[in-house]
Amino acid sequence: MKQITIIWAGAAGLMTAATILENTESESCHIHIFEKNKTPGNKVIISGGGRCNLTTGIEDKKILLSKYTRGADFIRKAFGKFSPRKCREWFESHGVPLKCEKDNRVFPVSDDGYDIVEVFEKLFAKYRNRITLHYGEGVDSILSWNSAFQITTKKWTYDSDIVVITTGWNAYSHTGSTGDGYAFARSLWHTVTQLGPSLSSFLTSEKWTHELSGLAFESAKIWDLQWPLLLTHFGISGPLAFMTSSWFAWETIDKNHPKIVHFSPISTMGYIEWEAFLKEQFANHPKKLIISILTEKLPRRFAEAFIREYFTSIETIYPVSIGKVIRENISKLLGEWIPLTLTDRRPGDEFVTAGWVNTDEIDAETMESKIQKNLYFAGEVLNVDGFTGWFSLQICWASGYVAGRDIGSKL
Ligand SMILES: Cc1cc2nc3c(=O)[nH]c(=O)nc-3n(C[C@H](O)[C@H](O)[C@H](O)COP(=O)(O)OP(=O)(O)OC[C@H]3O[C@@H](n4cnc5c(N)ncnc54)[C@H](O)[C@@H]3O)c2cc1C
Repeated sequence: MKQITIIWAGAAGLMTAATILENTESESCHIHIFEKNKTPGNKVIISGGGRCNLTTGIEDKKILLSKYTRGADFIRKAFGKFSPRKCREWFESHGVPLKCEKDNRVFPVSDDGYDIVEVFEKLFAKYRNRITLHYGEGVDSILSWNSAFQITTKKWTYDSDIVVITTGWNAYSHTGSTGDGYAFARSLWHTVTQLGPSLSSFLTSEKWTHELSGLAFESAKIWDLQWPLLLTHFGISGPLAFMTSSWFAWETIDKNHPKIVHFSPISTMGYIEWEAFLKEQFANHPKKLIISILTEKLPRRFAEAFIREYFTSIETIYPVSIGKVIRENISKLLGEWIPLTLTDRRPGDEFVTAGWVNTDEIDAETMESKIQKNLYFAGEVLNVDGFTGWFSLQICWASGYVAGRDIGSKL
């Protein structure tokens, strides 16, 4: 009987274990799961604000892969075997009804992330003779020789035939993801890419936007990225901020290395559209103050703060006295050029880690290491990450499923 060790109890490890159990004969293997927390799936439970946005309703492969900043080519094969649709079917067939919201995020109908973790708890209870849950027992080291492994914890040293590393990195480290997999991967001769926090909010230095804390734009724009943006008392947050941080994951951003980005509050209105709108308004409403004109398109709080910040002198004058240059400057700023100076990432705020185990060293069909036989990687530990947190768990489920199937086929 083969001994299988999963170093885990996050999304990827849970799915790997479930897949092995459901696809193998009882005498073929025994699974050991090591998890330093006392309970499994802590990050799954807090995902999506506690509702667990577990996958996406996007079915088109090309569109789906375009949502990944890094590693899309690598994860393509796993998504072929465990697509978002298959993921939804899997959870529904395991007793969790799901719903797809209009932005394509998929949640349990109950809006309770614990329901997702409970699927695995029930499954492990059903297969209790085939799995040992070492909860509260963190792994200190993994040694390998002759394609087998020795796992050392504070309590004991265990032999294992197959090892799956799914230890995440240290995003939200209080959930247990403290980056131990880094040392494990290196000790097993894998290279680790540059690491960086991704999907975080930013601190900004523009005080006028801090005063607009709580103001959200349904579809704002930074470069060509168009997503909801939230202004906060410290800077910016929400999907557009997260996407921006995904681009900058490996760049130093702090007070000494600030980064200026430009945003437009309405993604569909660039310079040309603002010019057309203002010209029409100025011509047809000569007795309307500029703030009232802007309020046709923008939240009043924003319009007021914007004019106060950039054009105080025209606050109380009518369009007839506003010259072409000023009108064009308003269009330019609103259309493409409001500067935001990013002075830091919000500490400890990132949802995922960009970078990790070099995917060139892993077989994309199986998740097995190309360097070390019988060693597998799955989940956030892979150098694959998306533009928003919405797509991260799909990586974990798909890579965990693929690893589980391949291990099952060897037994
Ligand atoms: C606040 C927040 C919200 C999010 N929202 C979403 C969302 O809505 N949708 C989405 O798709 N993604 C979301 N994500 C991202 C997603 O939750 C993660 O990408 C995913 O949970 C990572 O799973 P994983 O299995 O790779 O690693 P992890 O969940 O990090 O699991 C690794 C596990 O390994 C354990 N471990 C670590 N070291 C050791 C050791 N030495 N010995 C034993 N055990 C160890 C840890 O305790 C942990 O339980 C969110 C993330 C955060 C932080």
